[in-house]
Amino acid sequence: MNELTSKLSPIADMDCSFRSYLNSKKAHEAAHMKGNGIPDYAYGMDYELRKKLDSIPGLYKVARSITSTIVHQQMQIMNQQAVCATPTSFPDVYEIGCECARRLGIAVPNIFIVNDQTLNAYTYACDDVEPFIVLHSGLYERMTPGELKSIIGHECGHIQNYHGSYETIATLIAQEGLSALGGLSAFFLSVFTTGVQLALNSWSRAAEVTCDRAGLICADNLEDALSAEAKLMYGGAFGDHKIDYASIEEQLELQMSNATKYYEALYSHPTSARRIMAIREFYECQTFYDWRPDMRKADSILRSHKECDERCKKFINLTEEGTRSKRGKENE
Ligand SMILES: [Zn+2]
Repeated sequence: MNELTSKLSPIADMDCSFRSYLNSKKAHEAAHMKGNGIPDYAYGMDYELRKKLDSIPGLYKVARSITSTIVHQQMQIMNQQAVCATPTSFPDVYEIGCECARRLGIAVPNIFIVNDQTLNAYTYACDDVEPFIVLHSGLYERMTPGELKSIIGHECGHIQNYHGSYETIATLIAQEGLSALGGLSAFFLSVFTTGVQLALNSWSRAAEVTCDRAGLICADNLEDALSAEAKLMYGGAFGDHKIDYASIEEQLELQMSNATKYYEALYSHPTSARRIMAIREFYECQTFYDWRPDMRKADSILRSHKECDERCKKFINLTEEGTRSKRGKENE
């Protein structure tokens, strides 16, 4: 890096070298990785449901084959139509990508900013292809730098947890239908039953909880992680806004006591209200503070990982009747 670039780049003093990545990866593996290669912050249902998907004959093979084709195609499309964040193009996004990767102990991912006004970010990843993250310009415009950190951290969580193959298929089925896959891919996937598609969605919703935890680990504070999620509900309209999370919890109570909640079985993501509650639960978990001891306060609640997962299940499972008994009384 020459002197001029060094002055212009906000990450001039940041070590994004491969050696630094390897050192960081080793340290994280020793401290935070379980024997099964899953990081310790992962939501238990994510791993349990993924094992069930793995046991469905042929599913993983087909998912990986379809996804690796899609990832290659999308990478070419992004190269044509989007801007890749570098130390000198969208350096703020590049810097956040470096920070999140270092925090989680993964390689720095490519991040593309694409012209699309909808608030969305996603990851293209397959177990044997280099992953990359896509940010819509609308999301970049409406999120604060702190909120972007939580969102990019979430996407890095998908990479770290090897969600690529199943996640891509679940998202395509849920959002665009089999026709989006086209030709042979659609044919292969159509042999799987509706039951398998619902199982993919169910796992995907659990995987999102895992990645919201990665987002919180990468964020500067709880508020950024919650407000990023809330903006996905109201669109992040410009101007000052106040979000009352107690009233969002009331909305969730209504949502959970109504039979229309079963429609969510068709969704690949939990609703934002559910995700907000699950993020708040992780903020009261010992595992979070193992990653972020700097955020621990004298009055921080430190529940075990197991208890945290049990409490999250009550917000995430569609069969639960209501939320009042979970956070309500003890936190009032
Ligand atoms: Zn996600």
